[in-house]
Amino acid sequence: MTNINFTYLPGDGIGTEVGEAAIKVLNTTAIKFGHTLDIEEHLIGGAAIDAGLRPLPEESLASAKKTGAILLGAVGGPKWDHLKGSDRPELGALLPLRKELNLYANIRPAAPHPALIDKAPLKREYLEGVDFVVMRELTGGIYFGKKGRDNLGAYDECRYSEEEVRRIAIKAFDLARLRRKKVTSVDKSNVLETSRLWRAVVEDVAKDYKDIALDHLLVDAMTMHMLTHGKDFDVILTENMFGDILTDEASVLCGSMGVIPSASLSDGTMGMYEPIHGSAPDIAGQGKANPLAMILSAAWMLRLSFKMEIEAAVIESAVDAALYGEHTTGDIGGSLSTSEVGDWIAAYVGDHVS
Ligand code: NAD
Repeated sequence: MTNINFTYLPGDGIGTEVGEAAIKVLNTTAIKFGHTLDIEEHLIGGAAIDAGLRPLPEESLASAKKTGAILLGAVGGPKWDHLKGSDRPELGALLPLRKELNLYANIRPAAPHPALIDKAPLKREYLEGVDFVVMRELTGGIYFGKKGRDNLGAYDECRYSEEEVRRIAIKAFDLARLRRKKVTSVDKSNVLETSRLWRAVVEDVAKDYKDIALDHLLVDAMTMHMLTHGKDFDVILTENMFGDILTDEASVLCGSMGVIPSASLSDGTMGMYEPIHGSAPDIAGQGKANPLAMILSAAWMLRLSFKMEIEAAVIESAVDAALYGEHTTGDIGGSLSTSEVGDWIAAYVGDHVS
């Protein structure tokens, strides 16, 4: 029996709704496998601001550091859009959380589920066989560089140290070793000095991974190749801002934002798990939010932070069954509400584990 102690930060908008569904599934999974759940729920984002706190309250950060495993809903929404800089939910909560916990490796998959291929906006021929993962550097680059205004205008500085590039490259090569043994590194080395350093360090790391094929693509070319030749890629390694943009593009291959989980990892078992979507204010409070991405994020947390491979696989097979049987929300063709999908998956886990 293991005590699954994690920090739960539901956040804003649909974050709380998809979070409830995921907690239900985790509860059933824990009971079925004889584990205990020890959930430390805390405020983050707009919900924290509304309670008179900073977007990332000290208590929330302290809990995240202590448990080392965080399940996050989403933050932000129009109610807080008038706020500036680090007073905003996104800038004031997500970026410091990543930096404070040293969550430098962000992983997002792109593998269209067979049941969703005809629901994606691209033709079937571009989707079949696509199965890649983006490994995005998450705590460096332009988002964390010096920024400001002066009498000439505005600036955002982009910096990468050799060490920052090396550690994310190692994560990418290690992951490729567990997959189809190919890394595609994406940069803008025809223009940017940080990209030239990036490419040189990636080449250097590759020397220790002779079994992994490495190629390089410029980010502008990648935006096209990802959609037209998606099946050529296995692990895509890239820096922070390019990864931010490319991962949203990759979500188009998967049919809906509501089905893609993500993990942001540090060294060891420290990790934060969240759906790739935001707080979706347009559908918040209506029971329309697809909880699958959050449920899959919870499964990833079990696998990567708690080393519970079987428990994670059981949840993933329940999600598979929900997709094939259309026990899903309207965004992917079903007719269930957010909590009904959560109930269905929890019941499936309950019925299929003895
Ligand atoms: P969004 O991802 O919230 O929504 C984009 C579109 O996808 C919307 O039409 C929404 O209804 C739909 N959608 C998203 N998730 C869905 C789900 N689970 N099921 C069904 N449909 C879903 O992006 P946005 O509208 O650009 O941003 C809304 C707010 O979320 C903003 O304040 C933004 O800053 C914030 N945001 C937060 C995070 C985060 O917390 N990590 C990430 C992205 C955006």
